[in-house]
Amino acid sequence: MKYIDMHAHYGRFPGIPLLRFGRDLYKSVNERYGIGAMVLSSTRAIIHDMRGGNAELLAFIADDPDMYGYIVANPLDVEGSEREMRKYAGNKKFVGVKVHETYSYTHISSERMEKLFTMLDGFRLPVKIHTESPEMLAPLAERHRELPIIAAHIGVNSPDVLRRISKCANIYVDFASSVPVDGAVERSVAILGPEKVLFGSDMPIISPCSALGMLMGADIDDSQRELILWKNSAKLFAISPGGCQ
Ligand SMILES: [Zn+2]
Repeated sequence: MKYIDMHAHYGRFPGIPLLRFGRDLYKSVNERYGIGAMVLSSTRAIIHDMRGGNAELLAFIADDPDMYGYIVANPLDVEGSEREMRKYAGNKKFVGVKVHETYSYTHISSERMEKLFTMLDGFRLPVKIHTESPEMLAPLAERHRELPIIAAHIGVNSPDVLRRISKCANIYVDFASSVPVDGAVERSVAILGPEKVLFGSDMPIISPCSALGMLMGADIDDSQRELILWKNSAKLFAISPGGCQ
């Protein structure tokens, strides 16, 4: 069995030293950890150059059958984001949208974020959001019920947060974390259900060993583990990478 890593990045992050970078890094790490396909977003697009970063990511993944991308959208520039969506949403290599609350200096419950999500609503691609205010995820998801929303990192959050988002059928979580939190996968599965939990590593910022270690050591049954490792992502992103079946 091969896995789908639905939370990876293309590019370097400021302050995080990488001794090597490039296609060889992804290939060798993926081979070592059994990852058959990955969905990446451009760090350049997230941090300072939405257009240039999205284009650079497409060039990187275009000819690789195991790599897919998120279109980065930014609430600081809703019109520009809409142009990016029109440019890429029909491209089979782009299977989702990435929004970063912190790097866009835009709170999840602000008017600007709402304007962005209203625009994204029309495209129906799953939207992965990095937020520091997970208690505001449920109101956002309730306003956009047809839009699958992936809450990055939130699988390692508290049971209270997980219970709040469990009311929304359109919220998914990954548990990418630099700290392997004991019991996080079991809690997410128990509160949200195994269909709402996704495997994502945050490669190359964080080694897949953290999320995979949590998942492999979790006290869940093998059919639930298989859902999380690839089946949920295959369905959500409508991808069926050869190595994963
Ligand atoms: Zn990330």
